[in-house]
Parts: sequence; structure tokens; C-alpha cells
Amino acid sequence: MTAKFRLRMATQTGEKYARDEGYRSFPVRPMDIARKHGILVEKKPPDMKGISGALIFAEPNPIIIYSTEHSNEGFENFSVAHELGHYFLPGHPEEILKGGGAHMSRAGFSEGDSSIELEADHFASGLLMPDYLVREALGSGQVGLEGIRSMAGVAGASLTAAAIRAAECAEFPLCIIVSEGQSVRYAFPSPSFKNLGRNIFLRKGSAVADGSATAVFNGDLGNIAGGGHSVGECRLRDWFDTDRNPLLDEEVIGLGKYGLTLTVLSSEELVADPEDDDDDEEALAKSWTPRFAYDR
Ligand SMILES: [Zn+2]
Repeated sequence: MTAKFRLRMATQTGEKYARDEGYRSFPVRPMDIARKHGILVEKKPPDMKGISGALIFAEPNPIIIYSTEHSNEGFENFSVAHELGHYFLPGHPEEILKGGGAHMSRAGFSEGDSSIELEADHFASGLLMPDYLVREALGSGQVGLEGIRSMAGVAGASLTAAAIRAAECAEFPLCIIVSEGQSVRYAFPSPSFKNLGRNIFLRKGSAVADGSATAVFNGDLGNIAGGGHSVGECRLRDWFDTDRNPLLDEEVIGLGKYGLTLTVLSSEELVADPEDDDDDEEALAKSWTPRFAYDR
């Protein structure tokens, strides 16, 4: 099994638990799920530094410990959901028991160094934001950053985790880019965003689009630390080496103390409304499925 496939399975396992536990609306509550399965959930003692959570296979009940040091509900939910991943994912309990039965986790979506850490993060994001709830929230909300923020709010998730899930699940073109200074840390285009042109991807370390709202925003460190935001417009080719060049909205927000910036590329114009019979809407829908037809 490839690493990529294992991560997708981990996300889908998280989604399956959300569905099987009967969640039909946000928020999915990982602490309730843990307790239902006989797991004790406790706050981390203050002397355990640098750890976001832990899973301990104790008798008679396993214990999940989570950090409250960030005073952030999204972080706490994600930490508990991550530990639940270690409990439920195939192979994880065995690996933890082999190592003595206690597992300590360190935070950082997509930056874990071991495969079980990444898998547990993917489980957590699938559990807290299962595809069916994400699509429903995005479909009824605003396109772009505002829709992602409101989903993060109702899901009890961090803005970054919500943005990643939005890009994975959105049915309309949406791309999220996380940058640090003038360099891209990672980018996730939604499936239909990839169809806007050829070669829609950004490598880690690629330069932020020259002169873009993001580049200007990142030029002032105070923006990022203060959680400031900015809005602009860009063309697809400002960011990607591609054959098409539709106009996009570029929304930018500082992620606070982490020193990172989130950029959301989207466009109200590129969203097809399946219930709208209007000819223009239909033509627009056809024009970007599967390949965007305006070339400007
Ligand atoms: Zn872990």
C-alpha cells in the first residue's frame, strides 16, 4: 500500500466513524465518541510540555490526554481526534503496545515525521470534517474564505484544518495556499480547480506570486502576527504555470503566532448552481467542466 493511499484510507476511516456515530450535522464531538468507547479523556498535566496529546493503553480503561495550553477548542478537538485515530486505525494499537503502551503526539498537521502521526492527523480531519458535512456546509455558505471560516466555526476546527478539508471536498474550484514570507509551504487545489488549466500544482518552496495580495501582505510581519486580512484579485497564471488564465478572488489571512499566511483562491463566477436553469449559468457550468473555456 502506498503512503498516499494509506493516508486516504485514514481520512475515510475518520469519516466512517463520524457517519456511524450518527453525526448528521456539525460539530462532531471526539470527546463524546472516546467516552462512548470506554476511553477516559483527561486534560494534560501542566508539566508535560510540547505534547499535544497522548494515548495510554492503561487497565482497566485506555486514557486520552489532551493539551489545553493553547486555550483553543479547535486544537483540543483535533488533538483528541488524533488520539482516537491511534485507537481506531488498523495497526496503530499494535505499534503503540510494542513501544510500551503509551504514545505521545506532537502537533502539526502534515508535518509529522512518522507515518502513524500523519495517519492519525488524517483520521482526525476526516472525523471532525467528514466529506458529507463539509459539502453541505460549503454548498450553503459563501464561496471562499468566509465559507471556510464559518465551517471551521461550526465544526470546532482550526481555520487551517478546515481550509484543507474545504479544498479536498469542495465541488467548486477552490485552492488554498499556506505561505511563509515569500515562499509557499503547501497548496491544495480542489478537484475542479485542477481542471481550470494544465499543471495546477505548487511545489513546496515555490515563490509566492509576484506582486499578489499575498506577497504584499507577507511583506509586513505585523499582518501575520495580528491575524490581519486582505483581499485582491489575481489571474490563474499569476500563481501557476498553466495554459488558462481566468480571473480569481484572492483572500489572505494571517494565521497568528505560527508566522504563516493562508491564501484562498476562488471565484463566485466559477460556481455552477445545479438548480439554476438560466442559460448563462448552464453555459458557465459547461465552460469549466471539465476544462475552463475562457482564456484571457
Ligand atoms: Zn500521535
